[in-house]
Amino acid sequence: MGTKNKKIIIIGCGDAGISTAVTLLRMSKDAEITIIEREKYFYPRCPLPFVIGGEIVGTKKIIKKIEDMFSGTDIKIIHDTVLSINPEENTLRTKNQVLEYDYLVMATGASSHVPPIKGSNLSGCYTLRTIEDTKKIIKRIIDSESAIVIGGGAIGLEVASAFKNHNLDVTVIEIMDYIMGTSFDPGFSNIIEEYLTGNGIKILKGAKVNEITERQDRKGEVGGVIVDRKFIPADLVVFSTGIRANSELAEDAKIKVSPHGIVINERLQTSIPNIYACGDCIEIKEILTGKKVQSGYGTQADREGHIAGINIAGGKGIFEGTLNSVVTKAMDLEVGRTGLTQKEAKEAGYETVVGVVKTKTKPDYYPGTKDFWMHLIFDVKSERLLGAQIAGGEDVVGYVNLASMALQKGNTLEDTLSFKYSYAPPICSAPSPFVSAAENAYKKLNRLRKIKKAKEKKLDVKTKK
Ligand SMILES: Cc1cc2nc3c(=O)[nH]c(=O)nc-3n(C[C@H](O)[C@H](O)[C@H](O)COP(=O)(O)OP(=O)(O)OC[C@H]3O[C@@H](n4cnc5c(N)ncnc54)[C@H](O)[C@@H]3O)c2cc1C
Repeated sequence: MGTKNKKIIIIGCGDAGISTAVTLLRMSKDAEITIIEREKYFYPRCPLPFVIGGEIVGTKKIIKKIEDMFSGTDIKIIHDTVLSINPEENTLRTKNQVLEYDYLVMATGASSHVPPIKGSNLSGCYTLRTIEDTKKIIKRIIDSESAIVIGGGAIGLEVASAFKNHNLDVTVIEIMDYIMGTSFDPGFSNIIEEYLTGNGIKILKGAKVNEITERQDRKGEVGGVIVDRKFIPADLVVFSTGIRANSELAEDAKIKVSPHGIVINERLQTSIPNIYACGDCIEIKEILTGKKVQSGYGTQADREGHIAGINIAGGKGIFEGTLNSVVTKAMDLEVGRTGLTQKEAKEAGYETVVGVVKTKTKPDYYPGTKDFWMHLIFDVKSERLLGAQIAGGEDVVGYVNLASMALQKGNTLEDTLSFKYSYAPPICSAPSPFVSAAENAYKKLNRLRKIKKAKEKKLDVKTKK
C-alpha cells in the first residue's frame, strides 16, 4: 500500500519520532503527517548530565520549538496527550480530540524507574529524564554539599562526575558487585572504578539502599540514605536505576507487549500491521545472541525511527537488532563497549579468550599522551570477535565504532591481526591497540590450545593403558 493521501500519525517527538518524520518527509511526499507530542519543546536527553555539570551552559542551546524544526514542511504538530488507541477503527483519542489514521507510529519513549524504597518521594530526590528534572537538580546543587547517586551505570556516572564538577562530596551506590555491570566485565570495571575513586568519587558496590531518610531540622527534605543499615548524609539524591518503556497505550489497545517494551518485527511493525513502534518504548534483539532487550539508546531510536519511516513509505527497511554499542565520559575518562561482555558470551555458550592491552594514546615522548585500555573478546572455537571494552583519556569512540563494524562483518582474530591502520605521533600510538589486543588474544589462544592438546594426550595415554 503506498502512502499517497494517507494519514500518518506519530505519537512522540523524541529522537525516534523525529527520525520517522524526517524519513517520511523525504520518502512519502504526498502523505499527511501529524506529530502528537505532550511536551512543548524538543530537546535531546543525552546532554542533560553535561548541562548539570556545567560543560554546557544553560538549557537554551539544546531546546528547540518543534514547529521551528519542521517549518517549511506540511507536518502538523499537535501539543496534546494521546489517551487511547482503537486499532479496530484506526482512531486515537487525545485529551482534546479523536483523530483517524491509516498508519500509526508509537514513539512514546520511556520513563525513569525508581525502585520501591521508603523515602524516595522526599524533596531533594530526583531522577534525570527531562529538562524539568535537570533544572530542579541544578537548583538543588546550590544549597548542597553532598550528593548520592543510586545506580552506577553510564548515566549514573555521568551525573556523579557532574556533581564532582560542583565540588560536592559524591557517593555512588551500586547494587551489583561492580560499576557499569551491564556494560563491562569486573576486570574492566575496576579500571573505571580506580580512576573515579582516585578522583574523589566514593563508590559503594554490592550495596543495597534500605531507606532515604528525612532531615531532622527540615521536614519533607532528604537528609541521607541508609545503605546496608549504615547512614550516609546527603543533601541531594539522584536515582539512576533504569528505565521502563512507555508501553501502556499499546497494552491497553491489545498490542503485544513484553516486559522490555512493545513487541515488533524486524520491519518495526507491532502485532497490528499498520501500527509501527520505535525508540525506547520497544523490545529489540541483541544481534549476537538473539536475546531480547529494551531499546534504550538514542543511536538506536534514531535508526529504528528511520526504518519505520522507510517501511511506511513502502520501502524495505530491516532493523537487525543491537550490538549494545555505548560510549560515555566520566570526569576525564572516556569509556565504551560493543558486542558481548565475557560474562554475556559465556552465558550464550561461548568459550572465550580475552586480548588485553594497556597502552598510551600517543607515543611516550609526545606531550599530552594519555592512558588507554582495550579488552577484545574472541570466541575460542570460531576465533570470531565477540566484543570490545575500551577506556582512555581520548580516542575511545573511534575504537568502539571500529570494533562494532568488525562485529557486524563477523571479523575474526586473523582479520583483527591484519588490520591496516595509520599512524602519526601527534595523533596516536603505534602499533594500534586493536592489533596489540588481538596479538595478546592470539598468544593466549595458542597457550590454551597447547594445554588442551597436552590434556588430550594425557587422557589418550591413560585410556590406552
Ligand atoms: C540523562 C540521559 C542521558 C542519555 N545519554 C545518552 C547517550 O549519551 N547516548 C545515547 O545513545 N543515548 C543516551 N540516552 C538515551 C536516549 O536519550 C534515548 O534512548 C532517546 O531519547 C530515546 O528516544 P525516544 O524518541 O524513543 O524517546 P523519548 O526521548 O523519551 O521521546 C518520547 C516522546 O514521546 C512523548 N510521549 C510519550 N507518551 C505520549 C503520549 N501519550 N502522548 C503524547 N506524547 C507522548 C514524550 O513526551 C516524549 O517527548 C540518554 C538518556 C538520558 C535520560
